[in-house]
Amino acid sequence: MRKLVRGIVDFRKTVRPMVKDTFARLALGQRPDTLFIGCSDSRVVPNLFASSDPGDLFVIRNVGNMVPPSGTDGRSASDKSEGAAIEFSLLNLPIIEIIVCGHSECGAMHALIRGRNDITAPNLKSWLRHGDRAWKKMMEGATFGAQLERHNQLSQLNVLEQIEHLKTYPLVRQRLSKGTLRLHGWYFDIKEADVYEYDTDDGKFHLIDEEYAEILLAKANAGQ
Ligand SMILES: [Zn+2]
Repeated sequence: MRKLVRGIVDFRKTVRPMVKDTFARLALGQRPDTLFIGCSDSRVVPNLFASSDPGDLFVIRNVGNMVPPSGTDGRSASDKSEGAAIEFSLLNLPIIEIIVCGHSECGAMHALIRGRNDITAPNLKSWLRHGDRAWKKMMEGATFGAQLERHNQLSQLNVLEQIEHLKTYPLVRQRLSKGTLRLHGWYFDIKEADVYEYDTDDGKFHLIDEEYAEILLAKANAGQ
């Protein structure tokens, strides 16, 4: 807490004068084009690793960057908060991209590997069931990200699983069929501070460096 309070004082002195106009403009309304769904982990810092500014990202964060699936009636299977945030952002903001971002050394993935049934905290035990299918796929021999440690392989598999959960939301499906929404799977490697994007064409996560960024930008310009 002390660090945060000192940080506010420092922000007022050094950063606020530079961003005051930006915030004054943003007070009139937000127009982010990206919904970012990431883990609550304190080391996952999208505003830093994607150099995003205030107003750029609409953010949902939870343990394990989960997306509870929706039923056929459009209602979330368990978490109304996340379902509401997905609905709000798609209906009220110019969202054209949704990013599900997992990360290395994720405590939720460690917990799934240790065994969800051994978790004594009831809410956590229940919540992590949304990662069960990713865990089962790994147990069934998915060799995805085979060069990674198991919990990091699971993190990547879990990103893809949560993207499938996103597609259960009628609003998401409608936008995808119209071609007005794109879904992305990202993976943040904490140790290297590197970000990877999943490519559905070759089924691999690719490091987003300058070279690969050009490919992604070309795809974005082509509306893919
Ligand atoms: Zn995590």
